[in-house]
This record gives sequence, C-alpha cells and structure tokens, in this order.
Amino acid sequence: MSLFLIRLGELTLKKGSRGFFEGTLKRNIIQRLKGIRHELKISDGRYYLYIEDDCYDDFVSSILSKTFGIADFHKAYRLPLSMSGIEAGVNKLIQSLDSQRASFKIESRRSNKSFSYGSYEICAHLGQMVAQKYPYLHVDVHDPDWTIMVEIRESCYTYMKAKEHQSAGPGGLPVGTAGRGLLLLSGGIDSPVAGWMMACRGLQLLAVHFHTPPYTGCEALQKAKDLSQKLADWNINGNLVLFLVNFTQIQLKIREMTDPRYGTVLARSCMMQIAEQIAQREGASVLITGEALAQVASQTLDSLAVTDQSVRMLILRPLIGMDKQDIIQRAQYLESFDISVQSGTDCCALFAPENPVTKPKMDQAQEMLAAASLEDLIHQAAVQAEREIISAREYSHCLKV
Ligand code: ATP
Ligand code: MG
Repeated sequence: MSLFLIRLGELTLKKGSRGFFEGTLKRNIIQRLKGIRHELKISDGRYYLYIEDDCYDDFVSSILSKTFGIADFHKAYRLPLSMSGIEAGVNKLIQSLDSQRASFKIESRRSNKSFSYGSYEICAHLGQMVAQKYPYLHVDVHDPDWTIMVEIRESCYTYMKAKEHQSAGPGGLPVGTAGRGLLLLSGGIDSPVAGWMMACRGLQLLAVHFHTPPYTGCEALQKAKDLSQKLADWNINGNLVLFLVNFTQIQLKIREMTDPRYGTVLARSCMMQIAEQIAQREGASVLITGEALAQVASQTLDSLAVTDQSVRMLILRPLIGMDKQDIIQRAQYLESFDISVQSGTDCCALFAPENPVTKPKMDQAQEMLAAASLEDLIHQAAVQAEREIISAREYSHCLKV
C-alpha cells in the first residue's frame, strides 16, 4: 500500500465555490487512475491518496505531476502515534536514499496536541537518531538536501522533500473548471504552449489542426497528433479531441482571388471562422492561439485586429506578451519542443506570401473575404472535419509483469 499526500494549489483561495473546484480535481485524479485500486480521502484541505499496490508509484507520481490544481505531493508513510512508530517511518524514508552522502533536517508539525512530545522534542530526538544511525547523513538546518517532514495529526505522517524539487505539482486550477476551449494547433512551438497555459487556468482543451493535402504531407499531420498526445497528458481523462480540417480549397481560393500580401491574415481569419463553428458544435466557448505580438507579420496589432473581427467568439492568446525564449523553455518543460522542431511544414508557412502586409486595412480585408465568397467552403470544412481522440502515452512499463 502506498500513500501520497497531496496539497492543493490556488483553489484553496476559493470561498463559496471551493467545493466545485475540489470536486473537479478529485474527479480528474480518479479518472486518470482507472484500473488501479485506490482510495482518495479529503481532510484538512489535503488529499490522502492510498494506492493498494506500490508497483504503481511511478505511474501515480507521473499523473499527479501533470494534474493542474495540485501544488505539491509527496509519497508518505502513515504511522501510529508513538515515537517508535515515527522512528520506523523515518528509517524507511532514509533507506530509500541509497546511502548517498547528503545533508538533512527534520521538520515537525503537531496539530494533534494530545501527542505527548512537542515539535522541538520530536525534531531533536529524530535528528539525533538519524545522525547516529546513518553516518553518511549530516544535519544542516539552513540549506539541507533533504527535509524530513513529520506531521502529527490523528496519525503521524512522514515524508521527504528534496531541495531541488520543492514543488512537484504544476499548480493552476483543475482542468474543466473554466469550461472548454478550442486550441488552434499548428506544428510549431507556440501553439502547444498556449494550450497548456490555458489548461493550467482550468480550461478543458480540444484542438483543431488545418492541413493542405497534397501540399502538406503525413509529417505535418503526425506532428499535430504527437503534440496533441503531449497535451492529452494534462487534459481530462488523459484524452484530447483533435479535429483535422482539410484547408486546401480555401487556401487555393485565397491565393487565386485576393491580394497575395493579405494571404496569411485572410487564411488565419478563415481558420478562425472554421474553428468557431467547430467550437460551437462541441460546447467550447473560446478559441486559443499561439500568437505573440509582432512575432510575424500576421501577428501585428493590425493583423490581429483583422483576425479578431472575423469571429464573434472570444480569442485567447496567452503568449501575446511573451518572449520567444520563454516560450521555448515552456515547450521544453512540456516536452513538445523536440516534436515541434521536427520537419513537417505547416500550411501557413507553405502558402506564406513573400511580402506579407503588416498593416492590413480592415475594410480591404473584409472586402476581399466577401468577394472570395468563402462561406460555403468554410462551413463545409467545419462540417467535414475529422474527429480523432488522441490519448496520452500508455504507462505500460509501470504495470506489474
Ligand atoms: P506556432 O505559433 O504554433 O509555433 P507558428 O508560429 O509557425 O507556429 P504562426 O504562423 O505564427 O504559427 O501561427 C500563429 C497561430 O495560428 C498558431 O500559434 C496557431 O494557433 C494558429 N495556426 C497556424 N497554423 C495553424 C494550423 N495549420 N492549424 C491550426 N492552427 C494554426
Ligand atoms: Mg508563432
């Protein structure tokens, strides 16, 4: 039997709606643990997750580290309320350190005042015991490699915190508490990060990818699916619904019928309209893009204004003020970066004009779109979008053999 102590993040600041946030987080955790015998209890604003079989420890840690709403979590031991019981737990913790030289300190919290030892006595007693029994460990109360936590509640709980791993949870708010958002997912670096950032604020993600066969090939499609798989890990139930939209006819008509310098911004407007129709059908109330101000011509203020005007739905652009280097760092954390930089040209890049307009005129853009009469093609593309459910990577290696 394994026990994980889970501390909740920002949702503890909620007042009247805290039950809703806690309930959603609980459901999100339980859904990811299907097939694993477990019990999840809530007490004192914390979750106590008991897993019947400790062979799933790595799997459970991996799930918890990707569940928004969790501030941090630790594998813990629940012990009887006696000094000898606590010693036994601390011994078990230390044995997991593999005799490596390290510094430690003991920290104790005693919310159950009926326990006969005070916090200071507990720390002094255990500190002495550890230092004597494990000569490769030495006390450092200011900057220890390991902090051994002892919490005296209705039972005693003990766990270890590593210096460089202060917060193993991702923070944020439980996915689903803010509704649903449809992410425009290209094969680039930015859009997966944008989706992840909005999932962090509680949005359940759906994604749409536009491709232009035969101009774009299998590589671009596969990239979109691989990126979706990375995002699925953070989404409800470890799944992400991905819509694949054939954009070829629209892209060709834009090239044929409009000013080439407006090509990208008009294509983006059409993408937004298709995405809006899919979102409405799927119960998503916002669109999400990876646009960042002035990154390219289609992301100047004037270009973004044209794109905004093409739909009524709210468009969220979480990267709007971010530096590319910061976006790359997040993509590396999300493990999407290596996929994004693989070959596979996106349809936007393929059809990009040589001299794109940076200050498109709203009236002209709207006139060109109207003259190209793309409404039917847009509607058709939205209706004919292929719907695929992309699941997070299997963790079969964690299962017992
Ligand atoms: P990314 O922004 O994902 O790194 P990029 O910078 O090459 O890729 P841009 O051309 O800057 O993409 O597009 C800006 C935004 O438009 C993207 O972040 C994405 O939200 C959306 N977008 C672009 N191309 C596509 C596509 N083929 N399918 C879905 N969305 C797209
Ligand atoms: Mg970009």
